[in-house]
Amino acid sequence: MDTVKHAAVHQKRHWVRLTRACNNRCMFCLDSGAHDGHAIPEDQVRARIVQGRADGAQRLILSGGEPTIHPRFLDLVAFGRESGYDWIQTITNGRMMGYRRFADTAAANGLREATFSMHAHRADLYDRLVGVEGAFPQAIRGLRNALDLRLVVSVDVVLNRLNLPHLREILEFYMAMGVFEFDLLYLVPFGRGFDEFRAELYPDEATVRLELERALALAGTPGLYLWTNRLPIRFLEGHEELFQDPHKLYDEVLGERESFRELFADGRDPACLGPRCGSCFIEGFCTAARRYAAGDWDRTAPADAEPPLPRCMGGPGDVAAPTPDSGVVGDDGRVVVDRFVAFFIRRLYRVKSLRCRQCEVCDDCCGVHVEVARRRGLGVLDPKKVV
Ligand code: SF4
Ligand code: SF4
Repeated sequence: MDTVKHAAVHQKRHWVRLTRACNNRCMFCLDSGAHDGHAIPEDQVRARIVQGRADGAQRLILSGGEPTIHPRFLDLVAFGRESGYDWIQTITNGRMMGYRRFADTAAANGLREATFSMHAHRADLYDRLVGVEGAFPQAIRGLRNALDLRLVVSVDVVLNRLNLPHLREILEFYMAMGVFEFDLLYLVPFGRGFDEFRAELYPDEATVRLELERALALAGTPGLYLWTNRLPIRFLEGHEELFQDPHKLYDEVLGERESFRELFADGRDPACLGPRCGSCFIEGFCTAARRYAAGDWDRTAPADAEPPLPRCMGGPGDVAAPTPDSGVVGDDGRVVVDRFVAFFIRRLYRVKSLRCRQCEVCDDCCGVHVEVARRRGLGVLDPKKVV
């Protein structure tokens, strides 16, 4: 990673939502439940922008819904710059940026970076996924305008059954336009994608693995930055370095902080427990949290023991859940959610290869620690070495 990218990753970010509305109707929209068709009042947005700077953020990220349809979007970009942010970014479907005067003014007012949600490389597929006929040429115009204005441009692709067979071509299409940074996002089992379009959107695991392998062959291209978001590591064998930083689990879990606080307080299961769990990125964490909330762990095991290796690596295989160190429990005697996240990342964050399904001890094995998998690759797991 070059030093500019590295610095950007570590910059303190402040996300500000501008709207609860969107001019697209994406099949997989995660945010649809929060949409009421309204823009957030300007004074509230300004107050949040000011608060972020006061808290030390350098990077302002304007998001939505769709932020560019906020009637004061351009003024709010200027306000971000006046408030002292080093960098102003927006996450957009790009259609408003297709109006040249709008894009020019956004750049002149201080917009430095735009992340475009571009889930396809062809109008038929794109328009179907975003639910608006004619959206593709507008978004492409927006992308071209942003590149022309020398904004930093990246593309988000939500992976699904309809676009996965074209993933490599999608990346190549945008690379040919001059985009060299992509975030590949995996479906999240909430919102419209799960509630309305599950059958159309959710791919089988073999397709995910095959199409990712084909697309990720591009990973060594000089100057290309690929990131993944909530994409399980089992689909990334051979490209484990692309698996998201395990510490991002804090953001995932703490977004559901209230559910887990209740779980640890009185054993109440999260309201979302059910059919969504099999597709949930934090299922491993959630299962561990439920187990610990029920008091099901080995209180005799030393709290600081290293995570054990699986049988195929010469370890003992599954062992009783380790004792959390005393810091996990707060003064009131209850487990503190963010401390439990830290304990989970350190001791319980275990992963497997898709090949583990062929292993005779698979059902009793909890795999290898995520950091070992990231460092040494999932190739170290070998069902044939289990004796
Ligand atoms: S795994 Fe946990 S957080 Fe995820 S859907 Fe199930 S209950 Fe909810
Ligand atoms: S191959 Fe997979 S399931 Fe088998 S012991 Fe190794 S990690 Fe466990």
